[in-house]
Amino acid sequence: MLDAVCTYAGTQKTYNILNFQKLPETDIEKYRQHLKCPKCGGQAYYRKKSSDGKAACFGSRYHGDDCKEGNSSAQREREVRHATEVNQIVAASSEIIFDFFAKESKSSAEARQPSSRPKQGGSNTTRSHTGNTEQIRLKVLGMEKALNSLMHGSDLAEADILIEIGQGYKYKAKNLFVNFADAEAADSLKDARPKMFWGTISHADVDMEWLNPSDCDDVGVPIKRYKDEIFKRFKVNERRDLEGAGLMLFGKCFWNAQRTRKIIELWNEERIFISVLED
Ligand SMILES: [Zn+2]
Repeated sequence: MLDAVCTYAGTQKTYNILNFQKLPETDIEKYRQHLKCPKCGGQAYYRKKSSDGKAACFGSRYHGDDCKEGNSSAQREREVRHATEVNQIVAASSEIIFDFFAKESKSSAEARQPSSRPKQGGSNTTRSHTGNTEQIRLKVLGMEKALNSLMHGSDLAEADILIEIGQGYKYKAKNLFVNFADAEAADSLKDARPKMFWGTISHADVDMEWLNPSDCDDVGVPIKRYKDEIFKRFKVNERRDLEGAGLMLFGKCFWNAQRTRKIIELWNEERIFISVLED
């Protein structure tokens, strides 16, 4: 994607990547959260030049199915497949168990076998009360598949299907999954109810302790406390690895003291998934 459309403060402008990367740093930081694909209008990202010499580029995780800017890749094919699978589950079931530890991209065949599930660390305790028969009957959804399907416009965001995220904690999907741009903030952390926030990362701050989602500039996700563990798990080495990455996390959204910024506080270091670009 050589061009991106930026809509900022009521003005729309199309930038070529060569011009965009020459803008002053402060302008880049302002505009990069408001980029779109010029062909399909999908929300887009800007990635800086990498430390090992990869060129700066525009891209999007949200290209329409027919958009010519959306190059086919194993990652994109998997995302589209996940969206189809999730739509099938939503259409056929009334309840899903959410598994924060599901490993879906390693081997989709393994993830589909109910018999392999109890072996996955940590997930068995949250649903032991449901009994074996129930475990096999109920569909299981993990963060990666949920995120991929939402990025590709699955029905999950609007569905009435019940999602059990822990023992006895059930939410309707439409009340659980919230795009970062639609995040509603409570007055304080203790007043906030947890939700599953999702979208893409526009960029991180210089110290990589703060994630800024795309398509909004009043939401921030502090990760300082969990940073080492999260970066190790998702193989994040530099800021560029986070630019354009998909992000889903379970957390609470509240206003900062000045009420200028919505903060999303992570539940813990495990309830987060980052879909780094595989290129
Ligand atoms: Zn597109």
